[in-house]
Amino acid sequence: MKKENLVYIKLENNQIIRNRKRLRENFIDESHNINNEEIKSISEKDLILLFKLYDKYFFNEYFKQNFRGKISFSLSNKMTRSAGKTIVPRNLSSLEETSERYEIRIGVNFFFHYYELKRKKIVNGIETKDALHSLLMVFEHELIHFIEFYVYKESNCKKNRFKDLAYNIFGHVDVYHSLPTIREIAYEKFGFKCGDRVCFVHNKKELIGIVNSINKRAAVMVLDKNGRYIDTEKNRYTKYYVSLNLLKKI
Ligand SMILES: [Zn+2]
Repeated sequence: MKKENLVYIKLENNQIIRNRKRLRENFIDESHNINNEEIKSISEKDLILLFKLYDKYFFNEYFKQNFRGKISFSLSNKMTRSAGKTIVPRNLSSLEETSERYEIRIGVNFFFHYYELKRKKIVNGIETKDALHSLLMVFEHELIHFIEFYVYKESNCKKNRFKDLAYNIFGHVDVYHSLPTIREIAYEKFGFKCGDRVCFVHNKKELIGIVNSINKRAAVMVLDKNGRYIDTEKNRYTKYYVSLNLLKKI
């Protein structure tokens, strides 16, 4: 296969499902972290393995045989909205292929928390059946970004070219995900959201504050005349980072 022909790959839906199923079985066999449909831990090696398997099952090992740039993979626990990201140098279009650098970054929390909400989880317009399925779908979306960057030196998943490629190669019918976010989980499980008043215990004292942001822990602003944060009404606050399960909405 020639480079230009990557973008003319067109697979039938049942072929896509068959390839993905084999790839998945192969991945479960070879991964040291993932032995079933759940994702409890994951490493960069798993993403390298996934890339190798996608190359084998969907691209006829085009990349193994022809790709002269570098692609690397990373994991992030800071991503709160997008579950994946493909990063390229600004000057990608002026680089020789041997100097091209690509990075696919995966936001791991979406997969670790997959089962915390019991609702449908759609990725790329397709209802995912388990955490591993959702990881594959997110990875596929990033692979389309990678291929667009590789062939055209630019990529945009809101545009038709991307959507056509994602449909033809992987059968995706949309470009969004509805995987549970930390904020949504906090609201569903603990009943609070940003801006809510909450109380918690700190050094055996009960404190009351306002939720300012929610990540692995929530940042809570508590009125404190010696605090270093000041609002527009000149109130002073101290910021506390509190585990979500220790906060109570009031
Ligand atoms: Zn995208």
